[in-house]
Amino acid sequence: MRIAVAKGDGIGPEIMDATLSIIGATGAPLDFEVVDMGKTWYEKGHSSGMTPEAKNTIEQLGVLLKGPMETPKGKGMKSINVTARKMWSTYANKRVFKSLNGVETVFSKAGIPIDITMVRENIEDTYGGIEHMLTEDVALCRRFITRPGSIQVHKYTFEMARKKGAKKVTCGHKANIMKITDGLFLECFYEVAKDYPEIKASDIIVDDLAMKLVSRPNDFEVIVLPNLQGDILSDLCAGLVGGLGFAPSANIGDNVCIFEAVHGSAPDIAGKNIANPTALLISSCMMLRHLGMTHEAIAIENSLYNTLQQGYHTIDFGIGKDKQLNTTEFSQQIIKNL
Ligand code: NAD
Repeated sequence: MRIAVAKGDGIGPEIMDATLSIIGATGAPLDFEVVDMGKTWYEKGHSSGMTPEAKNTIEQLGVLLKGPMETPKGKGMKSINVTARKMWSTYANKRVFKSLNGVETVFSKAGIPIDITMVRENIEDTYGGIEHMLTEDVALCRRFITRPGSIQVHKYTFEMARKKGAKKVTCGHKANIMKITDGLFLECFYEVAKDYPEIKASDIIVDDLAMKLVSRPNDFEVIVLPNLQGDILSDLCAGLVGGLGFAPSANIGDNVCIFEAVHGSAPDIAGKNIANPTALLISSCMMLRHLGMTHEAIAIENSLYNTLQQGYHTIDFGIGKDKQLNTTEFSQQIIKNL
């Protein structure tokens, strides 16, 4: 089987090489086709951030393991990530936040394990809308939420919740203020929930959700949110389990699925071989499961858990412990534990 790989910008190539070496060491029957996608190709004149060959390869293979890609703030190019998600209609962004033994957090110290799955609507909302200057002094953004788009993401969420045996699904929103757009998202949530009577469906205003995620994270099992709100709260959830180095994700579409870490290209630590490859590695395990390679996914996860329990860590966590490794050494330790 072949999949497409885009190494990404910043720390992307470092964490991708680490991840590919670990997948390779499991003997998974998988070939990687590295495609030209990222900031460099945007700068070479490809407005989507990828060459036509890369686009064709990804569409043919249907699965992309992707490193983070850079987007300048407040000016310059369109986000390659947002473009790719829209181009391939990857409508649901599943993000998993799970406590890991060996990764100390305020919650692990208090004996509170965290296991939250967030589904972020991935192609509509402000990110899928139009933003422009109305006059020199007025900036305008048109946000859009559609019934088919909302139904699609809610169905994905409830199906996923049913498969994992979740007892409750919570919809986060701001429908008290954004009555029409978030109101439609919420209305569709309860419409879809009717087909899943065994799952308790409830909703919560997003600001209250932010507070409760920090104070009572165990109240939540599966959460579904509009695009922008989901993007922000998923970094909050990453903080609950030890940081962005531990947050994997899958962008689910009918024809193309993209597996990537939640974090960005971390320009502040790029090129130093110190980044934590865990989030991309767990994303690759989501990909292996998607491809039916469950055995290899379990082998990698067990080896990662053992490595963390042995006290090995990269610079972003485990501060004060003496088993700090760089990216390459950390991946070699995982391979050793396979
Ligand atoms: P970031 O996630 O890149 O970094 C935030 C902080 O977390 C930094 O201090 C960084 O050093 C740290 N960090 C992130 N990943 C880490 C890892 N694996 N190991 C250790 N530390 C890690 O967020 P940012 O700085 O806001 O964004 C940088 C660039 O990434 C921007 O251009 C942004 O648009 C882009 N971005 C891309 C994606 C994506 O490709 N899916 C996602 C988010 C941000």
